[in-house]
Amino acid sequence: MRLLKLKLHWQILIALVVAVMLGLYLPASVRYVSWMGDIFLRGLKMVIVPLIFASIVSGVTSIGSGRSLGRIGLKTISYYIFTSTLAILTGLILVNLIRPGVDVHLGFSEEISQLPVGSGKINDLLIRMIPENIIDSMARGDILPVIFFAVVFGFFVSQVNDQYRQPLTNFFDGLFEVMMRVTMFIIRFTPLGILGIVTREVVRNADKLADIAGSMAIYMLTVIIGLAIHAAITLPLILRFVGKANPAKHFKNMATPLLTAFSTVSSSATLPLTMEAVEHKSGVSNKITSFTLPLGATINMDGTALYECVAAIFIAQVYGIELTFVQQAIIVVTALLASIGAAGIPMAGLVMITVVLTAANLPLEGVGLIIAVDLILDMMRTTVNVWSDSCGAVTIAKSEGEATLV
Ligand code: ASP
Repeated sequence: MRLLKLKLHWQILIALVVAVMLGLYLPASVRYVSWMGDIFLRGLKMVIVPLIFASIVSGVTSIGSGRSLGRIGLKTISYYIFTSTLAILTGLILVNLIRPGVDVHLGFSEEISQLPVGSGKINDLLIRMIPENIIDSMARGDILPVIFFAVVFGFFVSQVNDQYRQPLTNFFDGLFEVMMRVTMFIIRFTPLGILGIVTREVVRNADKLADIAGSMAIYMLTVIIGLAIHAAITLPLILRFVGKANPAKHFKNMATPLLTAFSTVSSSATLPLTMEAVEHKSGVSNKITSFTLPLGATINMDGTALYECVAAIFIAQVYGIELTFVQQAIIVVTALLASIGAAGIPMAGLVMITVVLTAANLPLEGVGLIIAVDLILDMMRTTVNVWSDSCGAVTIAKSEGEATLV
């Protein structure tokens, strides 16, 4: 019973440790715990579409005039592009300094055909944003068109007569409140969910541990150092000096969503928890969170951007290909686009690497090299993705003159 009195993030940490132990030393236990992970993930997925829709409509109607919506939108997009570019440059410098792929001879390679289907090409990202059929987009959980429709809908709700505006605003505010309560209810089960998810993943990946310990270690380390620099130095500095907020306090508030991002490997699945923490713990208004976080979970992926850059150049190094300046520049730009185009789901970044490799004229089979260690890197980059989204929400709220709690 005492365990339940512990703060949620401590419960999650304990669950993580227990899950790793179970996975390694008692793999048969997976049968008894993995269902908890399934139920937890289904619960999160259940709330995503109604939560995003209600939250954006209620946020946009409260932003009011088209001008302030445009201003907040512009700030948000600028923050996303700026931080993702910084992340890529960090990766670029590190991979050129450490050169993890030079003189590496890797004997193994896996089939690329194992990869799940990609989230589509990036050049039609803008077109895909506009739903042909909003119900269909909602049903498929395609978040970007849902966001687009919700912004347009919310904007025009604020344009109609009071007689219609009032009930609609009330309805969506109410729906949002209810969805938030449902989310908070699901959050209470996070430790159990994570126990299930992580135990299963450890069991599945146990045989890859040898690869991880061997030749891939330096490559992984390069990505991890880059992610650490971005998360622990770059983003806190932006939060401190641009946002005038307290990074350490904000980080503490984000413990639960960050641990969840790490364990679920999905920024979209983590979104309900991110919204709850940024709004209720760090004190950012619903007006800002409702707009920036769903958008961020879909298009702002600093960790993924950094990873794309390091992975592509690592592959070039392993194949002994000297990259020209132009090829490196192409990698930087396509890594940014790939991170925007990647969905907030597990392995999306690994799928998008094919886009970067094709653009820079590098061998696609290279994906086979990095697939074995993708899970661990995915866990880490997803955590950084969510951390950057949350820092963006605070920075933008501060720039709008909000008195947040951090
Ligand atoms: N899993 C990541 C996310 O959901 C995307 C990726 O694979 O890089 O944020």
